[in-house]
Parts: sequence; C-alpha cells; structure tokens
Amino acid sequence: MIEMIDVKKTYPNGVSAIGGINVKIKPGEFVYVVGTSGAGKSTFIKMMYREERPTSGNIIVNGVSLPKLRNTKVPLFRRNIGVVFQDYKLLQTLSVYENVAFAMEVIESTPAQIKKRVMEVLELVGLKHKVRMLPSELSGGEQQRISIARSIVNSPKIVIADEPTGNLDPETSWEIMNIFEQINKNGTTVVMATHNRDIVNNMPHRVIAIEDGQIVRDEQRGEYGYEN
Ligand code: ADP
Ligand code: ADP
Repeated sequence: MIEMIDVKKTYPNGVSAIGGINVKIKPGEFVYVVGTSGAGKSTFIKMMYREERPTSGNIIVNGVSLPKLRNTKVPLFRRNIGVVFQDYKLLQTLSVYENVAFAMEVIESTPAQIKKRVMEVLELVGLKHKVRMLPSELSGGEQQRISIARSIVNSPKIVIADEPTGNLDPETSWEIMNIFEQINKNGTTVVMATHNRDIVNNMPHRVIAIEDGQIVRDEQRGEYGYEN
C-alpha cells in the first residue's frame, strides 16, 4: 500500500531531512510516526501524498510510483488519500457542509451523491447538527472533526494526519482519536505523526520512530518512548 525504498530527501537549501528510509505499510494498518521536533516526521509523511518529492529512491503508494508522477496526475492520485493537518486548513468563508462538499464537487460527484455522502460523514464525526455554521463559530475540536469529515468524504484508502491533536486539549484529543480509530476499523489505513505520548501509549498501534531522518525504531505495538 505504502512502500519506500532507499528514500532520501534534501531540501534545496541543503538541509538533509530524510537520509535513507526503507519501510512498508500494509493495507488497514494504523501507524504512529514519532520523533523529536525537526527529526523528519513531516517530510516523511509529506512524501507519501506527494507534497514533497524524494531527492532519490522510490515511493509507491496505492500502486503509483510517486517520484515519476507528473504534476498533472497528482490530483487524481490524491483522491485516494485523505489528509488532516494540525491547524485544520478549513475554508473560513464556507459552512461546515460546504467545506466537506467541496472535496466532492472537485471530483464532479452529482448533487444527490454529494448530499447523501456529506451527511453520512458529518454524522460519523458527530457534527450533523452544525452543518450551517462557519468554522469560526466552532471549537477547535469541532473544526478538526470537519477536517476529518473532509478527508474521508471521497472514501480514500489512506488517511494521513500531521499532529491532528496538536492544538487540542486532552479530552478533545481523545474524541478525535476515537474517530480515527473508527475510520481505521472501517478498513482505512491511517498514518499519523504525533507528539501525544498519552495517546500512543494508551491506544496502541504500530510505532515508527524517526530521528535525524532515519527510522530508529519500528514496533508493531509500540510505545511513545520519549520524555515529552
Ligand atoms: P518534523 O516534522 O519531525 O519536525 P520536518 O520534516 O518538518 O521534521 O523537518 C526535518 C528537517 O528538515 C528540519 O531540519 C527542518 O528544518 C527541515 N525542513 C523541513 N521543511 C523544509 C523546507 N521546506 N525547506 C528546508 N528545510 C526544511
Ligand atoms: P511541523 O510542526 O508540522 O513539523 P514545521 O514547523 O517543521 O512543521 O514546518 C512548518 C512548515 O515550514 C512546513 O511546510 C515545512 O516544510 C516548512 N519548513 C520547516 N522548516 C523549514 C526550513 N528550515 N526552511 C524552510 N521551510 C521550512
């Protein structure tokens, strides 16, 4: 499903962010990516959805070889990948409903399909009663729920999340994690960069630890393993 072979990434300014990674993630897995700030976690996951290209090596995601993938083919490739960010990245002038529907309009679903599916995913994240509100009228946790609804509305095979609970209090973080757990139980692969020790230790899954651009630990049922 996701495979990296001898992947290296050096940014144009000469910073080596990833120094030779080999990894395989199977369909249906739930993987935490942990490591200190600047370790290379974001770069590692950005390469999975072709936000960054590797400097060398190969990355195959859903059967697509990414280094060679043309820019014009990237939107099609990304239909099978949902992405969730720490800061939600919602469109502030659009309602909850419109933020989620937008992702389906882009791929030209019919209005009937859109309405049915948008309400379905808003129900899954528990926001069906707030469809007409604007992101600014909602709490951080509610905004992250919209962002998760948007990420899964096109039924992707993989959801990638970069610090999704980074701006949320512990209780809200657990609510958000339970949604990811549900999405994973429904068969979607989840890859999540996180600093949340409590969650990693108490909702155990595979842990890939990155330090200085290398995988230093890869455990099927791992622990967070850092002081903070
Ligand atoms: P993490 O997500 O673990 O904090 P990053 O992947 O963001 O780590 O960063 C890894 C290293 O690459 C850091 O030294 C960071 O400063 C550098 N880096 C990240 N993005 C860029 C970029 N766009 N240009 C140059 N250097 C970058
Ligand atoms: P995160 O907290 O998610 O790890 P970062 O703080 O590492 O994010 O980076 C935030 C943004 O800035 C990213 O888009 C990253 O690519 C970019 N960035 C990070 N470090 C550098 C850098 N040294 N030079 C240029 N861009 C960078």
